[in-house]
Amino acid sequence: MYYVVLDLEWNSSYSKKSKSFINEIIEIGAVMVNAGFEVIDTFSTIIKAQLGKRLTSRVKALTNISNEDIRGGVPFSKAFEDFEKWLGGKDTVIMSWGDSDVRVLSDNFLFFNNDERVPFLKKYLDMQKYFQHCYNLPSSKQVGLITAAELCGIDTSDVSSHRALEDSLLALRCLKKIFDEEKMAAFTQECNEDFYKKLRFKVHNITNLRDPHIDKSLMRCDCQNCNKPMQRLSEWKCVNQAFRALFYCRECSNMGLFTIKFRRHFDRVDTHTTFIKLEPAEEESVLTAAQNSSVTG
Ligand SMILES: [Zn+2]
Repeated sequence: MYYVVLDLEWNSSYSKKSKSFINEIIEIGAVMVNAGFEVIDTFSTIIKAQLGKRLTSRVKALTNISNEDIRGGVPFSKAFEDFEKWLGGKDTVIMSWGDSDVRVLSDNFLFFNNDERVPFLKKYLDMQKYFQHCYNLPSSKQVGLITAAELCGIDTSDVSSHRALEDSLLALRCLKKIFDEEKMAAFTQECNEDFYKKLRFKVHNITNLRDPHIDKSLMRCDCQNCNKPMQRLSEWKCVNQAFRALFYCRECSNMGLFTIKFRRHFDRVDTHTTFIKLEPAEEESVLTAAQNSSVTG
């Protein structure tokens, strides 16, 4: 078994063909280790951009890659043929920090090769997900690579630019701290039809109250002062892709706007709630307004 940490840099380019922006891959960086975690080899190549001849200022600043660099790069298909050759047909788990790299990879294969399937991607592990599991961090928050490195005590002061190979080597150093073959196997996905279905899924906020993925039992609010269940005084209203209603505590007269956001992922729904307490001066006018419109609860 071999593990390959893959990191891609990409540039947002406009495609006249699809009349939309696509994240065009401009650099591949990778490092291969064996089951004993010894580095076997590294891979690094710049890809000649076909769509975006100019890098966005953000990408330039982040990566230090220049427009000349991408003009002199290797064409997309040749670059990935070289990469596949480099993998050498070994039994390999490809890993990346977060799944956006594989999503972009699949997008690029779909765009340039008319097939969303990435031929060399057989098994995949999302290192970010695995790392957050090991460190007991909630999946709703995504930990960036630099933060992760700092969390596991790696000195990041010498990490200056985001280059694909450097990032993959840094990700590897993080992984070394939590390397556990058995545990990692549980996080490894077969890159089958389901894998691509999940990859294509667009994470979104639920804005329809009748959406069956909403757990209505979560649409309640306990008083922050006395812990008693609060009474809802207004209808739910969708504001900024979240649901908001006025709540009142009969025990202590606490009143405020409770907001709950449902964020739908392929296999789960994350919720985020806030409560904004209304000051006594505001209460009266809001209460009257709520009572005049519709009183529920
Ligand atoms: Zn209360």
